[in-house]
Amino acid sequence: MASDTIIGIDLGTTNSEVAILSEGEPEVVREDGEALVPSCVGVDEAGSVIVGRQARNQWAAAPERTVLSIKRLMGTDERVAMGTEEYTPQEISAFILKALRDRAARALGHDVHKAVITVPAYFTDAQRQATREAGEIAGLEVVRIINEPTAAALSYESRSEGSRTILVYDLGGGTFDVSVVAIEEGVVEVLASTGDNRLGGDDFDGFVAARLNGHVESDLGVDGAGDDRVLQARLRRAAEAAKIELSSRPYVRVEEDHVATVAGEAKHLSCELSRIAFEQDVEELLARTMQSVTTALNDADVRPSQLDRILMVGGSTRIPRITQLLAERLGQEPHGEVDPDLCVALGAAVQAGIEMGRDMRAVLVDITPYTFGTSTLGQLYGQPYAHQFVPIIRRNTKLPATRTEAFFTVFAEQEAVEIKVYQGEDPDALKNVEIGSFHFAGLNRRLSAYDEGLLFTYHLDLDGLLKVHAVERATGQEIHGIVENALGRSTGEELAASKERIEGLWDGEAQAEESVDGAPAAEAPPAVARPQLQDILERAERALDTAPDEDREEIASLIARLRAALGEGRDEDAAAIRQNLDEILFYLE
Ligand code: AMP
Repeated sequence: MASDTIIGIDLGTTNSEVAILSEGEPEVVREDGEALVPSCVGVDEAGSVIVGRQARNQWAAAPERTVLSIKRLMGTDERVAMGTEEYTPQEISAFILKALRDRAARALGHDVHKAVITVPAYFTDAQRQATREAGEIAGLEVVRIINEPTAAALSYESRSEGSRTILVYDLGGGTFDVSVVAIEEGVVEVLASTGDNRLGGDDFDGFVAARLNGHVESDLGVDGAGDDRVLQARLRRAAEAAKIELSSRPYVRVEEDHVATVAGEAKHLSCELSRIAFEQDVEELLARTMQSVTTALNDADVRPSQLDRILMVGGSTRIPRITQLLAERLGQEPHGEVDPDLCVALGAAVQAGIEMGRDMRAVLVDITPYTFGTSTLGQLYGQPYAHQFVPIIRRNTKLPATRTEAFFTVFAEQEAVEIKVYQGEDPDALKNVEIGSFHFAGLNRRLSAYDEGLLFTYHLDLDGLLKVHAVERATGQEIHGIVENALGRSTGEELAASKERIEGLWDGEAQAEESVDGAPAAEAPPAVARPQLQDILERAERALDTAPDEDREEIASLIARLRAALGEGRDEDAAAIRQNLDEILFYLE
């Protein structure tokens, strides 16, 4: 039925594609033979909005009326100027989505109202939410948001048989993801995923443009070239074209007429760039992507020799040095049979088919690339600390996931707790990104601090939206919260810094010696947690999810009592409770 048709959309930083099912097979919609729609929006001279190639073509001449790479701003509060108006990132993305929707409608011969849209695995909640909103503005119900590497693997699955372990290396215009994906009997499972949502071909263009600027300034004697927006837009475009050429040739000549006028004389740029120099410029960034490959393999507990395939996604993977580095590191050549530009959109269409109830042979299992948790009074590097990060849903957990943790108030008669929600991997909550905070007031003050305590439950759905639930066990009193756009308040810098720290931790140096001097003073934190008991507590918390109802109650109560005993320094009691817990877990695990 036409109204039930769901299309698959790869909303890329640089290019976007839309795919439909044609006689049951996913197919990317082409117009004039062209599948890629530049993710570029502009207003033309007459004031009409233009999208895709047309907008892309006017960019060099009218950068103030043209917007590129909007995906990088998704999930932020920034507004971009286009012509005389300002727009949110969602609105700009919506123009692109609408163009894709119209394109699909022309191919299908009827209107379309539903879509599956892909996002990088590393996209935060706010970025996913912004993507969903962009769909709504474009008149599309977004039935699912799926991760790009998962989509790539789904497209792959529709053409392969048997079980496979695949590494998906996805380097596009503005984002980088690497994922280890297992495909078994039609089930696609992301075993691990990591990356950098601010790394891609645009950065490489920046290096080439810097070289061109150098030539303009030193060879042609032009001052202040960097302030000339139109010239910069032209050079950036020339830089991208040169970079693409360098993927197939060792040298490229860049010719740009009339880049400036010096002392009444028109200056023309003509210079040669080499692949070797380009590779030197980007070597550090590529090395970072290779570190992420190692991290993803470690997280997935997969050795390079266990990989059946390396799958390349994204236009930037055509850079030969990437193939070389992957082959060196993994001992096998990446495969090129799946088109790196199209496989994500094709996979989105496979998922659309599954949503429409078609037998597509592949079923989706997805994971969270981040850990979500809260902060408690606890310890950091052996010292008491008011903001210990306690993970609730760990990264690489299959989605949808529901996890519950037991906590309790710090003081007798404490009437309220603050439930902070953090995203990140650092044991110090303050070094992670705070994405939400909920005030749970009106607690029963007659209960002692270590009575039955509180249960916090996080539910993370497949679209990456986080629901928080807290209940006071003794009274049944509860609050609900949803973290949707909370990350819109975090700056890109915050995220980037957080990402860097995560990389540091993944590299194996847990910064164990780091001092906590200067840590902020305690401010009525909600709970306690003791790292030396992390193991048994973690096992117990995991068991909370799976235990039969009658055991769950008891486990939660033992967790609370164990924490209480520790908090009050009743070590003997703690040992007894711990043993009790251990026994129950023995039968459950
Ligand atoms: P995507 O986001 O997957 O559409 O990838 C777009 C990025 O791939 C842009 O930065 C392009 O400049 C880049 N790209 C496309 N083709 C090539 C190529 N042959 N060599 C290097 N980069 C490329």
